[in-house]
Amino acid sequence: MVGSIAVSACASLGAPRGSELKVQDFSFDGPLGSDGATIEKLGRNHFRVTLGHAPEHPDWPNKLNFQILRNARGNDLRLEVTFPGGTPYSFNEYHQSWSYDGVNWNPIAWKLGYLKSKQNDELNFPEFTADRVHVGTQTPMSFEQAEGMIRTWARNPNVRVHSAGKSRGGRDLYRVEITDPRSPHPRSRRWAHYFANQHPGEHNSQWRLVGLVEWVLSEDSAAVDYRRRNITHVVLMMSPDAPSHGWYRVNQEGVDMNRSYRPPGADSAAQTHEPYLWQKDFEELMASDAPVTTAWAIHTWGGIVEPIVEPGPEFGTTLAAWTQWRDVMAKNDPLGLVEPLKVHQGPSSYGGTSWSGGPHTQFGVTGVLCEGGAVLQTKQLNMDSGVALIRGVAEFYAGTK
Ligand SMILES: [Zn+2]
Repeated sequence: MVGSIAVSACASLGAPRGSELKVQDFSFDGPLGSDGATIEKLGRNHFRVTLGHAPEHPDWPNKLNFQILRNARGNDLRLEVTFPGGTPYSFNEYHQSWSYDGVNWNPIAWKLGYLKSKQNDELNFPEFTADRVHVGTQTPMSFEQAEGMIRTWARNPNVRVHSAGKSRGGRDLYRVEITDPRSPHPRSRRWAHYFANQHPGEHNSQWRLVGLVEWVLSEDSAAVDYRRRNITHVVLMMSPDAPSHGWYRVNQEGVDMNRSYRPPGADSAAQTHEPYLWQKDFEELMASDAPVTTAWAIHTWGGIVEPIVEPGPEFGTTLAAWTQWRDVMAKNDPLGLVEPLKVHQGPSSYGGTSWSGGPHTQFGVTGVLCEGGAVLQTKQLNMDSGVALIRGVAEFYAGTK
């Protein structure tokens, strides 16, 4: 009797404390994974993860993505993380997130941060209240989640989903096209905007794209008008194999996806698999009756969102000068999530092999390197930043071509 009272009192104070976490409770394989990661136990709920590296780059760490498959409830977690391979890119440059369902994420900060410690750091998680826990980099997005959203969007009559082919890992290379099929304007008169994420671990920027798509598909009167006058192409992940492996910048062949454009033209012999298929797909758009007007390379780095433009021929001719676009963008950004638009000055450090400089070099179209957003540590803020951007596009790209 006394025993049962004790149990009941304990339960009323919270979940019964489970047994401590074990190495076998952790998995680095899954929709968000981390190739080559190993884990060792250092003490009670205290572990060390040693990260593996990207294909062909022994000094590029894979990102820390894993699941606790069971037994997390009632346990906290101290996780030391190390990457012995070098430091050109640090695994701890951006925040991590954790979640019980893989949908709703909580940001968690590194103890030291990459400015102080580039190869060793630590995460301290609070006591968990559920048994299964997902951990990923930035505000994570798996390919399966991206595909689920694309399938939902595909039911909208304004959406057509294209595949540029299959990745090396057998995943579809999805390009989502949005425009009003009942528009009175011929396709050849509509502005066309191409937004694509190159670096697959820059998940904040992928959520920026999700916010952008959801606004374009909304019943906001500006969005309804925009859909009639514009064609929007969105690629959530140019390297869809990456999230399950923890690759931050590359494809299976180890090519940095934003150094993969080939200004002389797509060439299967000169490019790796996905970059070739994507550039071929882009070139087909350029040869179609609705060629691309603006090509956006969607990335994450520190701070708020930071678009840098290489202007095409529409500025100061069909449309006003780029400074007018800057002002229109600012007007559509009530939360201050986007830096004032600026024009790229001087030779690009990325040049024609990037997906903003490349289309600009090959076709002369407006290229936008859209960086930043690492400080936006929730899905909603990243989505809001995408809404700010596309509202600015919708207003500045007035009328039709
Ligand atoms: Zn990037």
